[in-house]
Amino acid sequence: MSGTSTSMTNGNDAAAQQPRSRLSFDLDVDIAIVGAGLAGLTVALEAARLGASIAVLEGRHVGWGASGHHLGTVMPGFGLPVSDLVDRVGLEDARELWALSKEGVDHVRTTATEEAMPGIAFSEGALEVSNVDAGEALISRLQVLSSDFDTEVEGWQVDRVRSELRTDRYFHGIHYPKAFQIDSRKYVHGLAALARRAGARIFEDTPVVSIDPSGIRKRIVTPSARLRASHIVLCGNVHLGAPLRRLSETLLPVWRYAAVSEPLGERLGEVIAFRGSVMDSDGIDQFRIVDGDRLMWASPETTWDARPKRFASAIQRRINTVFPRLGRVAIADVFGGAVGLTVHGMPQVGQLRKGLWVASGFGRQGLGTSAMAGLLVARSILWGDERWRLFSPFELVWAGGPTGRVAGHLIGKWTRGSSAAAGVLARYRERARLKERQREARLAEANRQAGTRAPPRRRPPPGQPRPARPQAPPPEPAATTEGEGGPSSH
Ligand SMILES: Cc1cc2nc3c(=O)[nH]c(=O)nc-3n(C[C@H](O)[C@H](O)[C@H](O)COP(=O)(O)OP(=O)(O)OC[C@H]3O[C@@H](n4cnc5c(N)ncnc54)[C@H](O)[C@@H]3O)c2cc1C
Repeated sequence: MSGTSTSMTNGNDAAAQQPRSRLSFDLDVDIAIVGAGLAGLTVALEAARLGASIAVLEGRHVGWGASGHHLGTVMPGFGLPVSDLVDRVGLEDARELWALSKEGVDHVRTTATEEAMPGIAFSEGALEVSNVDAGEALISRLQVLSSDFDTEVEGWQVDRVRSELRTDRYFHGIHYPKAFQIDSRKYVHGLAALARRAGARIFEDTPVVSIDPSGIRKRIVTPSARLRASHIVLCGNVHLGAPLRRLSETLLPVWRYAAVSEPLGERLGEVIAFRGSVMDSDGIDQFRIVDGDRLMWASPETTWDARPKRFASAIQRRINTVFPRLGRVAIADVFGGAVGLTVHGMPQVGQLRKGLWVASGFGRQGLGTSAMAGLLVARSILWGDERWRLFSPFELVWAGGPTGRVAGHLIGKWTRGSSAAAGVLARYRERARLKERQREARLAEANRQAGTRAPPRRRPPPGQPRPARPQAPPPEPAATTEGEGGPSSH
C-alpha cells in the first residue's frame, strides 16, 4: 500500500502521469541506484551532474514511497535529539554532522527554487511547540542550537504561541525561520526530471530481485534484465527486501498517515495564523495550511501496512481535540507512507563494502537528511569526499524483526499515552495557577475596598495542623497583618 492515497488532491500533476519505462535490456553503467525516492534521486542528480553514467531502478514508480507522500517540511537535524548526538560523538563531530544536515536543507532549497520547479508551493518557517510547560528545557535547547550549532532559532513564549495557534494544548515554541515547506509530489517528480535532464536513466516497474556485490563490476538482476555497475547505491528504505534482507532488517518500518481537509474558509485563519509547519515536541502531531484554507495534518502511525483511508476519522478527531474551535473538519484526502527508523535514530549513510553504498533510514525527518546523504554518497564515489565517515559510529543495528515491530508499536503507544498525560497535567497546572492568580486578585481587591493590605490567605503545608477556627469574633483588620490566625501585632 505504501504511498497510496484516497482522492489525492495533489496527485494529478503531469509528471506523475508520464509513461513509465521498464528496464528490458541488459545495461552497463558507472552507478546503479536502487529506489527512486528522495535519496535515490538526489544521488542520481548529483552523480549525473558530476559526469557519471547512472541507472535508477525503481520497483514501482517515482515517489511511490514516503517521498511522494509527506508534509514537505524541510529543516535541519536528525531523529536523534541534539543533546544525545553530542553525548554520542562529542561536540566537534556533532557540529559537523549538524552542518551536513544544514547542507542538505540548503540543497533542497536551491533545487526547489533556483531550478524553478513548477507548483512547488514554497512557504517559510517551522514551529516546534511543547505539549507541556517546559520553558527551562526550551531555553537550554535554544542556546545549544544557536550558539553551538549556528542555527537560526527564536524562542516563543506561551502568549506568542497561542496568538498564532488558538489552542490551550501548546505552551512554548521554538521557531525556525529558515525552515520551509514544499509540495511533496512536485518536488520528487521535479527531482526526477532534473536527474533525467542531467543524463540519468530512470527505470520504473523494475524491482531489483538480487545483487551480487562481489567483484569490481557488481551485478544486479531484475525480472526482465541484468545490469552491471562499478557502484551500487541502496536507497530502498524499508522496502528493499530480498536483495539485501539483512540491511532491511536494520530498519523498523513505521507507517505514518496524513490527511488534507476540505477548504475551511476564513475560520481556519482565525484559529491558525501561523503559515509554516507546526510540530509538537513529542513528534505526535504535525500540520500546516495548504492551498490557502485547507489543513494538512499527520498524526497516526502503525508498525504494519494499513489503508490510509481507515485513519480519516482518527485524524478528524485529533484536529478537533487540538483545535475545538474549528468544529468538525471534513476530510478530502488521506495518504500515508512508510518511514524507516534506525535503532540509534541516525540515518544509514556510507559504504558497506567496496562499491556497495547505502543511503537510507531517514525516519520522519527525511527531506534534509536524504538530500545530505545523496550528496555525500555521490561526492564520495566521484570526488573522494570522505565526510560520510562521520556516520561510522552509527552502525547497522538489527531492529528486532517482527518482535521489534511489536515493541515499536507498544513504545509508540506508550509515548503517545504519556505525552497526552503530561499535556493534561500541564494544562491542569496552568488552570490552577490562573485560578490562584484570580483568587489573589479578588482578595487584594476585597482588602483594598476594606481599606486593608492583608496578604493572601495560604493553606498550611501538608502534614501541619490547620489553625483552629476563631471562636471569638474576628479581630480588627489592623490585627491581621501577619496572616489570618497568626499572632497579632501586639
Ligand atoms: C505522512 C508522512 C509525512 C512526512 N513528513 C515529513 C516532513 O514533513 N519532513 C521530512 O523531512 N520528512 C517527512 N517524512 C519522511 C520522509 O518522507 C522520508 O524520510 C523520505 O521520503 C524517505 O525517502 P527515501 O528515498 O529514503 O525512501 P522512499 O521514499 O521510501 O523511497 C524508496 C524507494 O525505493 C524503492 N525500492 C525499494 N526496494 C526496491 C527494490 N528492491 N527494487 C527497486 N526499487 C526498490 C521503493 O519502491 C521506493 O520508491 C514524512 C513521511 C510520511 C509518511
